[in-house]
Amino acid sequence: MKYNFSAGPAILPKEVFQEAAQAVMDYNGTGLSLLELSHRGPEFTAILKEAVRLPLEILGLNKEEYQCLYLTGGASSQFYMTAMNLLKDGYKGYYLDTGTWSAKAIKEAKLFGEVEVLSSSKDEGYNYIPKTAYSTSGNGYLHYTSNNTIFGTQYHHLPAHENLDLICDMSSDIFSRPLKGKDYGIIYAGAQKNLGPAGTTLVIIKKALLGKINGGLTSMLDYNTHISKNSSFNTPPVFPIYVSLLTMQWIIKNGGVDAMEKRNQEKADTLYAEIDRNSLFKGFAAKEDRSIMNATFTISNKDLELSFLEECTQAGIVGIIGHRSVGGFRASIYNAMDIEGINKLVEIMQAFEAKNK
Ligand SMILES: *Cc1c(COP(=O)(O)O)cnc(C)c1O
Repeated sequence: MKYNFSAGPAILPKEVFQEAAQAVMDYNGTGLSLLELSHRGPEFTAILKEAVRLPLEILGLNKEEYQCLYLTGGASSQFYMTAMNLLKDGYKGYYLDTGTWSAKAIKEAKLFGEVEVLSSSKDEGYNYIPKTAYSTSGNGYLHYTSNNTIFGTQYHHLPAHENLDLICDMSSDIFSRPLKGKDYGIIYAGAQKNLGPAGTTLVIIKKALLGKINGGLTSMLDYNTHISKNSSFNTPPVFPIYVSLLTMQWIIKNGGVDAMEKRNQEKADTLYAEIDRNSLFKGFAAKEDRSIMNATFTISNKDLELSFLEECTQAGIVGIIGHRSVGGFRASIYNAMDIEGINKLVEIMQAFEAKNK
């Protein structure tokens, strides 16, 4: 038995793995693998239809106002695609800098137009979510990262964005909790954290923004292309889309995002309680900004780091080593991780404390 705490590619529900494996061998009794079916045939057309419908259903959005896309190039491609499609004279990109991924988005956007960073938590090594007030001209978008995968911080409220179109990188917390879809202009998420395998990025875009999209872009980088061709301008990543669909169906079958949030909160509370109680460990992120998806923590005696990792490996706990920019440990506890995994980790932390007192 393995408990996979990797940040991404990451754990998915066991049923999803099973169904995906079956589809690779024989999709739905067709005698063909999903991997060899035409992306324009009836089987994949039906998959795509559901895969673009369900995110809107989960977020309470209607297809008259929003469109859902499956693109390639990772969430990293959305860093520049958002900017190159939208930035122009008089329409500015405002950014909240809360970690490595935000900083990358800012760097890319600067290539395409006017960018202003409204607040940053870089001064403290990105261990908190900035709360200082800021003012804007009110014409542009506000880009933020809802969950900072590397540092383990998360926005628990919408950032102030009066009159700005809200763009959110939700790569590591999409569908982990309910939210009001209508608040957003663009939501994007690389699938490989909380949604599916690596290879596709879910992009949800408010159609009212389309009028703001620049002309003259190369077809593949123009949102209008993918919207008008329903993510099939070129061959879409059929397998990642299918597995993402299975995951969304699993979410709905298991009570939807409300139930996910309840479960995720309980898991996070259990783990953080142990981090705070255990004399060997220390949480990295400011308490009020702690992520319910990625729990980051360090060990006070660095000499014990390797032996803790060794204990984890012995117990079947994998993927718990922290990102190189934070050090220590990171337990990624996405939707598919169940409470037994958390209990196992807590048990190992307690045993390790007893042994090293
Ligand atoms: C992993 C991650 C990315 C990068 O995703 P790619 O699909 O590898 O480009 C961007 N933003 C966040 C918040 C992430 O966690």
